[in-house]
Amino acid sequence: MPELPEVETFKRYLDSTSLHQRITGIEVRDAYVLKRVSARELARRLKGRRFENSHRHGKHLFVRAGDELWLRLHFGMTGSLEHLNHGEVAPKTARVIFRFANNCRLAFDDQRKFGEIELIEDVDKFLQTRGLGPDAFEISLSQFKAIVGKHRCAVKAILLNQQLIAGIGNLYADEILFRAFMHPAVAAASLSDKDLRRLFRATRYVLEKAIALKTDFNRLPKSWLLTHRGKRGRCPRCGRALKSAMVGGRTSWFCAHCQKPAA
Ligand SMILES: [Zn+2]
Repeated sequence: MPELPEVETFKRYLDSTSLHQRITGIEVRDAYVLKRVSARELARRLKGRRFENSHRHGKHLFVRAGDELWLRLHFGMTGSLEHLNHGEVAPKTARVIFRFANNCRLAFDDQRKFGEIELIEDVDKFLQTRGLGPDAFEISLSQFKAIVGKHRCAVKAILLNQQLIAGIGNLYADEILFRAFMHPAVAAASLSDKDLRRLFRATRYVLEKAIALKTDFNRLPKSWLLTHRGKRGRCPRCGRALKSAMVGGRTSWFCAHCQKPAA
């Protein structure tokens, strides 16, 4: 599932391939992806405009197409973007294809059909209406401490809650907790100031590194949990078998030796 690092990678990809070209047509191959807008309305409002810039918040990508006109993309479980040069064939699971004046196209690909495309007028208003928390990559240490430290539930549930901090999903939450030597089920309110700082630094490091590697799992450091996660996986630090448990409604992988349940 695309999390903050994946969506940031899509943003940079879109910025480097698809800005400033006049939009000449939009092909909607599967309308499930359109939220509160019809295929006809989408084409009517975007045709003749250009994607000017983009903004990411959590797992949402907003692409500006004019004053008070933004395209919102959410990548669901399997969404991605693919830029196609003239003559290149779109993937079979491309759901919406934007065509530009230079004959290039941008495809919104989505195998499992949980993606979303919407037109909105105001990004801040959208974030408020959805009640999304600050972006996990932009959040300051003091904001982070205030949000995480006041909740009694499992620290992993806090990291996953988009209304508290936006952008972190199941995989990177496990990685962050592994790096912070923290058990996923530890009560957030029991964390010391030092623990919170360690968790904040781990969050920053994991997101930054994953973005720098363009979220290519084959290039992630072998010292990361992500490359070992799963049955028969072993802790890259101590070599013991990894354990799994349901925390915050999701399967968590962790090392019971390196990640202590209580501080
Ligand atoms: Zn270990």
